[in-house]
Amino acid sequence: METKYIFVTGGVVSSLGKGIISASLANLLKARGYRVTIQKFDPYINIDPGTLNPYEHGECYVTTDGTETDLDLGHYERFTNVRTSRANNVTTGRIYQSVIDKERRGDYLGKTVQIVPHITDEIKRNVKLLGNTGDYDIIITEIGGTVGDIESLPFLEAVRQLRWEMGQSSLFIHLTYVPYLHAAKELKTKPTQHSVKQLQELGIMPDLLVLRTEKDIPQSMRRKIAQFCNVAPEAVIQSMDMPSIYEVPLMLHEQRMDDTVLRKLGLSAEGEPDMGPWNKFLELMNTAEKTVRIGLVGKYVELQDAYKSISEALFQAATYNGYKLDLVYVHSEKLNADNVDEKLGDLDGVIVAPGFGQRGIEGKFVALKWCREHDVPTFGICLGMQCMVIEFARNVLGLEDANSTEMDPHTSHPVIDLMEEQKSISNMGGTMRLGAYDCHLRPGSRAAEAYGTTDVSERHRHRFEFNEEYRKAYEAAGMQCVGENPKTKLVEVVEIPDKRWYIGTQYHPEYSSTVLSPNPIFLSFVKAAIEYKMTNDK
Ligand code: GLN
Repeated sequence: METKYIFVTGGVVSSLGKGIISASLANLLKARGYRVTIQKFDPYINIDPGTLNPYEHGECYVTTDGTETDLDLGHYERFTNVRTSRANNVTTGRIYQSVIDKERRGDYLGKTVQIVPHITDEIKRNVKLLGNTGDYDIIITEIGGTVGDIESLPFLEAVRQLRWEMGQSSLFIHLTYVPYLHAAKELKTKPTQHSVKQLQELGIMPDLLVLRTEKDIPQSMRRKIAQFCNVAPEAVIQSMDMPSIYEVPLMLHEQRMDDTVLRKLGLSAEGEPDMGPWNKFLELMNTAEKTVRIGLVGKYVELQDAYKSISEALFQAATYNGYKLDLVYVHSEKLNADNVDEKLGDLDGVIVAPGFGQRGIEGKFVALKWCREHDVPTFGICLGMQCMVIEFARNVLGLEDANSTEMDPHTSHPVIDLMEEQKSISNMGGTMRLGAYDCHLRPGSRAAEAYGTTDVSERHRHRFEFNEEYRKAYEAAGMQCVGENPKTKLVEVVEIPDKRWYIGTQYHPEYSSTVLSPNPIFLSFVKAAIEYKMTNDK
């Protein structure tokens, strides 16, 4: 069948959750048997978000093919179970880079290179890349930013042209905000009307409107919006704040959004989506009574989006273990030997977060020493795993100034060191060890037991590695290198088998955890935390 395209734009304010709406719609269409993927076009000049501080846009998500992407791609994978790739996230920077490369090669044959048509053509080419593979029936394209921003204009112009070319095979969804004024006790539709008008001035007529709101919007008001904005009444969908983002697909389905979309695209809307496994997850989520308390030790705790994939993977793992998750963010910069008892004392498990640079690192060592000595289930991810290795060197192997050469290039014990091939690299963008690599797990190790297999593939994002020269000393003292890359022999997983659950992974298992396919190592970690909670009778 001919590939259909859905374009999602946003208006009024940012942070309305276009990513969740796109992912939820994809979830419903997939549950109806369509092959769906979602792509995001980000209107910033960075080539990718890899060099962005998490305070800017939250977590950097990594795809299996090693592309550093916007965190919305994490939502797409968690909601659809469909893997994304480089083609699923395109930035203004990538578009310009490609156009400028073509100009230098002489591809434009002496023409003046302009935003229209050269930049817009490049955007259109990128929009259609995934469709050209023949792997998908429906492609949802989310345009980042807010209508009215200067940055988004070339993207909106490109998709306007695409709509014109594709006709019935494409459709527009516009997400807006309907604020509630507490003093007047009223919902206000004017910002939505203005936002749609702005879109229409750019030549785009939205086919569906999704209204983000904190209060129920009465039918009469929805009809008014439909009338003013030239959309069908059934195409006005309300998106109320839900207790969990995973309930959004059902909320949209109750309003028959999937039917409306399919009909408008000329596709069959017969039958119902098969939401069986999804509903099973929601049922577990809504019936869980007991709570497991996990601490996440990191330096970006003020901004919870910085650890989005970890918190979602933990939530999925808690749910499948029949528990509610109480996630406690522990600021690593504020953690020290004097307050560690109080800060970590009532946790059932501790995760030490990934990260870069020196800030907050000492607090991670304090946390890890405390967790190791108190035998609390502990999970170190990427930098967290490297910190496990350093803390063990300092406090068990007696190598007092052991460190990673990232933090101290002159340490006499570089237990974490730069890979040889990384030493000559000076460019920061896209040059880390990125994407999925195979890992062989030692049979009988706790990690292998958690996965239920000895061969896994997980995603990486780091420059530094466990220093092979110290492997023997670690193993003799009780920290085992139980996971390694079959080709390069790089150490990927360490664990202390004498402890309840003390595992560090050089890779990021959180990226591959989805609602319908939760990551096994997270399941195992949360299970260990629950068991620990029981023994403590907390
Ligand atoms: N900073 C460490 C490295 O580059 C760890 C990176 C991470 O935690 N993602 O190796």
